[in-house]
Amino acid sequence: DAALSVPDKQVDSVCPYCGVGCQLTYNVKDNKILYVEGRDGPANHGRLCVKGRYGFDYAHHPHRLTKPLIRRAGVSKTSDFAMDPSRVMDVFREASWEEALDLAGGQLARIRDQNGKRALAGFGSAKGSNEEAYLFQKLVRTGFGSNNVDHCTRLCHASSVAALLEGIGSGAVSNPVMDVTRAEVVIVIGANPTVNHPVAATWIKNAVRTGTKLIMCDPRKSDLTRHAHRHLQFKPDTDVAMLNAMMHVIVHENLVDRDFIASRTIGYEELAKNVEGYSPELMAPICGIDADTLRYVARLYATSKASMILWGMGISQHVHGTDNARCLIALALMTGQIGRPGTGLHPLRGQNNVQGASDAGLIPMMYPDYQRVDNPDAKARFEAAWGMPLDEKPGLTVVEIMDEILAGGIKGMYIMGENPAMSDPDANHARAALAALDCLVVQDIFLTETAYLADVILPASAFAEKTGTFTNTDRLVQLGRQAIQPPGEAKQDLWIIQELARRLGLAWNYTHPSQVFDEKRRLMRSISGITWERLEREGAVTYPCTTDDDPGQPVVFVDSFPRGLGAEKGRARFVPADIIPADERPDAEYPMVLITGRQLEHWHTGSMTRRAGVLDAIEPDPVALVHPLDLEALKGRPGDVITIASRRGEVSLYARADDSSPRGAIFVPFCYYEAAINRLTNSALDPFGKIPEFKYCAIRVRLGGE
Ligand code: SF4
Repeated sequence: DAALSVPDKQVDSVCPYCGVGCQLTYNVKDNKILYVEGRDGPANHGRLCVKGRYGFDYAHHPHRLTKPLIRRAGVSKTSDFAMDPSRVMDVFREASWEEALDLAGGQLARIRDQNGKRALAGFGSAKGSNEEAYLFQKLVRTGFGSNNVDHCTRLCHASSVAALLEGIGSGAVSNPVMDVTRAEVVIVIGANPTVNHPVAATWIKNAVRTGTKLIMCDPRKSDLTRHAHRHLQFKPDTDVAMLNAMMHVIVHENLVDRDFIASRTIGYEELAKNVEGYSPELMAPICGIDADTLRYVARLYATSKASMILWGMGISQHVHGTDNARCLIALALMTGQIGRPGTGLHPLRGQNNVQGASDAGLIPMMYPDYQRVDNPDAKARFEAAWGMPLDEKPGLTVVEIMDEILAGGIKGMYIMGENPAMSDPDANHARAALAALDCLVVQDIFLTETAYLADVILPASAFAEKTGTFTNTDRLVQLGRQAIQPPGEAKQDLWIIQELARRLGLAWNYTHPSQVFDEKRRLMRSISGITWERLEREGAVTYPCTTDDDPGQPVVFVDSFPRGLGAEKGRARFVPADIIPADERPDAEYPMVLITGRQLEHWHTGSMTRRAGVLDAIEPDPVALVHPLDLEALKGRPGDVITIASRRGEVSLYARADDSSPRGAIFVPFCYYEAAINRLTNSALDPFGKIPEFKYCAIRVRLGGE
């Protein structure tokens, strides 16, 4: 019936998935989203990918949590839950909001008072708004009393941010994605934008069509490879060898930008000395790229009028992730390819608000705007603003918190909108840790694998059910508007955070997200010129933006870098890197390599997209991408079940013949609860960013399985 599909209202918002930050319109009838259309936003100009266009109906899924739940007395916290909705009421009972909040707040307060403020921790969400992220970290810092607050940025770009803060003083991008259309040369390394940032990939393809030379550097082939001028399919785990060889060429052939190095940087001599030992001839057998190609690409990047680098998790998710990013920063600095349109450094941010959540202080060592918690001036400023003493000790990170639970130091957690039981490395270990907590409070929209281990579950609102601001990968702050009401007794997340805060002794009274935004912007110089009214009027404003009439700065570091003191002030810093091998190399027992990541149709741990009808219909089953020759060696065929095992566990799933990965390397998405691949991954951390090595661990594979 055509009349049934005519919307009765249209609501402008942004996409809930990736960091590109596409603007869209929800078409709504009778509190149901009928369909979604792209809008003319700065990042998408009307374009949407399959997730943005079809991934909305999870909000109406019958699995939505609609009442608070409390774990039944005596029901054990098994970690082998298979997401069977029929078992929910065996494990939990329904409760009123009053009872659930009193129990959650009371237990967390008891742990704080009996075991000390550092016995509690919180994971906020990169899917929540900036206002939710800000209030969540404020609750942990003032209500729990410690800095034990983190979120999934730790699992994606923490190493990139560590290198960027160290080298150029800012963890955000220097230029927007759209600048690829102004670049002569674009290097995309360790990223698969067609899958993970699909609309950004379309701008890259458009740039290639008008003459930009695209250099893809990745051990895996991807759709974008077909558009590349060159594909450097280097061996997994050899990023530093390849990048140092390119820098060796640039130094030896005097392709460096001497003026830029002299006026804008420090530490070049040390860097140049370090790459001396990395000639292309020496590195070619290590990284698998011949010396001539290394020379050609290095010359191309260094001598073009404008060269830009974009990177993803293939760079960051290694024990040497910070070193990988240090090399990319050094490449840009030594050639002066930063601070102008069409140049610069762009770590492609994953979730739609991972940039904003980090900016808002949802990280254990920083207050909002990256002010360090162990800096006495910053601490004094936030103590004055929040009206209470704060802990000066940086908190623990995501994986460290899991370890600390099992060591007995952390006894209570509050998790909002994250699913560490699926997303953490060595997930069996993470699940054992969550199950060992005296009190786990989970705030979510579905009974996730993490929620199943909770003592109290608080039913929250889906993206389209709330209003807030979100910051995309380009540093663009955008307004997402509420289109529909939450189902049943589910509540807005800001309300839930405040009610829990009240039970921890905090008297907050924010009645609208704009009040939180206003408090936040007064504490964050980077966004001090962005008002709520301005966002309502303009829809999106780029930071840094420090006055009401500041249009915002899409390209930064034009004259100086925001780092250094005294003689170093304003200068970027070269940091040399040497080869550090992966923590777990293949051996006779586990001869192959596992690489994890995402699929185009599914999002992270799958809790939303696997409940979105169109997306789940396209990719309904857990699959492993296996090189056809490796599958043949197993005597298997596409569609056969295989079992992958590492030293930490094993999973069975369907094999798909796919030559995008090199022989000996298997790629598996981490969205399938039936084959939770993070049971196999290695929790070894990069020492600087504390990010786990999701992109490399040793496995063995056999045909058949459960
Ligand atoms: Fe959403 Fe990213 Fe797709 Fe845009 S590219 S529609 S932001 S998932």
